[in-house]
Amino acid sequence: MENKRHNGWTNYATWRINLELFEEYKFFIDYDAESLQEYVRDIIEEDCNNNLAISYANAFIDEVNFYEIKEHIAEWKNENKCPECNADVDGGGVCSKECEEAQMY
Ligand SMILES: [Zn+2]
Repeated sequence: MENKRHNGWTNYATWRINLELFEEYKFFIDYDAESLQEYVRDIIEEDCNNNLAISYANAFIDEVNFYEIKEHIAEWKNENKCPECNADVDGGGVCSKECEEAQMY
């Protein structure tokens, strides 16, 4: 398959799987590229018992650049950290009143 970039992503498969299956990055912070791929394969195999469909789906999954998705998750994690104590904060900002006050001085 020809690899054309899609909306800034490696290709269409990477863009689409990132968009549809990794919407909530916070659940995938500890995943490496390989376990992200396993996660996607498991979803397909759980819901589908047509081997031909699974093999077509796997050909699509093989096109995905899971390293790129992993990078985006790592970037997201960096952007969602308390600037005072580095705790994870969903949506960014400070994690607590104490850190908010510490940031003021
Ligand atoms: Zn904090």
